[in-house]
Amino acid sequence: MKYSALRGMKDILPDEINIWQHIEEKAREIFEIFNFREIRTPILEQAELFLRSIGEDTDIVEKEMYVFNDKKGRKVALRPEGTASVVRAYIQNSLFNAPSPQKFYYIGPMFRYERPQKGRFRQFHQIGVESFGVSSPEVEAELLLLLKKFFESLKIVELSFEINSIGCKICRPLYKEGLYKFLGERVSNLCFDCQRRFKKNPLRVIDCKVPSCREILSDIPLMIDFLCENCRKHFSDFQKKLELYEIPYKVNPKIVRGLDYYTGTVFEVTTHALGAQNAVAAGGRYDELVELFGGPSTPAAGFAIGIERLVELLDKKLVLQLQKPLIFLAHAGEALEREVLNLSSRLRDNSFIVERAYENLSLKAQLKRADRLKAKWVIIVGEEEIKKSLYKWKKMSDGTQGEATLDEIISIMKEQE
Ligand code: ATP
Ligand code: MG
Repeated sequence: MKYSALRGMKDILPDEINIWQHIEEKAREIFEIFNFREIRTPILEQAELFLRSIGEDTDIVEKEMYVFNDKKGRKVALRPEGTASVVRAYIQNSLFNAPSPQKFYYIGPMFRYERPQKGRFRQFHQIGVESFGVSSPEVEAELLLLLKKFFESLKIVELSFEINSIGCKICRPLYKEGLYKFLGERVSNLCFDCQRRFKKNPLRVIDCKVPSCREILSDIPLMIDFLCENCRKHFSDFQKKLELYEIPYKVNPKIVRGLDYYTGTVFEVTTHALGAQNAVAAGGRYDELVELFGGPSTPAAGFAIGIERLVELLDKKLVLQLQKPLIFLAHAGEALEREVLNLSSRLRDNSFIVERAYENLSLKAQLKRADRLKAKWVIIVGEEEIKKSLYKWKKMSDGTQGEATLDEIISIMKEQE
């Protein structure tokens, strides 16, 4: 073979596509009843959009972004996430003029140049939502409720909802000072990455996974103990709302998130079922981003779900059962072409999936083909049958068969779907 897909990118083939379609359908169904509406933004954006929002010193921007110059020498990037683009679209199209909250969802591919491994790809897919215009913690609580409902609809259980607050522009600088001092006294013993983070993005040191760092940092000061009055109240009101919604959660003060635009509430949904890459969804509040991009000061919050990891978690058998059965129309003789067309279109009008042999094959060969295509039903059109308006049908899984009118066959098949 001359060509193969790029490392970390893969084809989603028809045999697994109905799992993806099922996930996407559920997302649309549930997000829309919460009044989130779909938005589609370009996959390519000015690189600076991500640089400014996600942050220059983050892993995503520093190491993982696909950046290149277009033919006019403009620096563009394949989007590594969805929020920055939605915020840009929100401002560019003056959507802030519409009544709040404005709620959007998106489904699509994202690109990050990461080391490919289980649950980590270079082209991966996210379903995300963004909610603009309301600062009350009701918004984040609704986001978690939405996530819970969505996962329940896919029968994915044993998820853990972890929340934290990373403060605002009033309390975070004070905390950072304390953190900086604490880290400064220990920096020479930290891992190479943490030494770099210490200079550029000290918050990221908190969730370092290296065991020696974890030990040195076991009593690291945490933002949650330094929240200002507003942030503290917001976080505690948020928790009250979660209790009201009966959403089980855990406060995890070590969640810091890998993107700079977050303020206040952040959260992650994790599961033990995935191994090392255990985050299925993540999000939080980003009250300063719209203004940073030149829009009016607008509170906002959102999350993104990784679809590949959802696919891993899903009970595939359950979903494959949802696949519509295939009906194979066999016929004996070319003269019956008109009848086959007529029957196919009546079956398709009833939403059945219909296939047939396109060449002239013996009846035996056609039945063999039906079997290889895993048809659930075969309907046979023959001279004799047409005269009586009766057709032979056969259920391939158990060999039951009979002769009936098309309407009767349709109702037999519908009963057994
Ligand atoms: P992780 O800690 O797994 O790298 P992240 O903090 O980089 O996650 P976000 O940017 O918040 O992730 O993206 C939200 C979700 O998108 C993640 O929880 C995960 O399910 C999924 N995701 C992120 N990066 C990848 C990737 N390279 N391949 C597959 N899924 C991914
Ligand atoms: Mg990551």
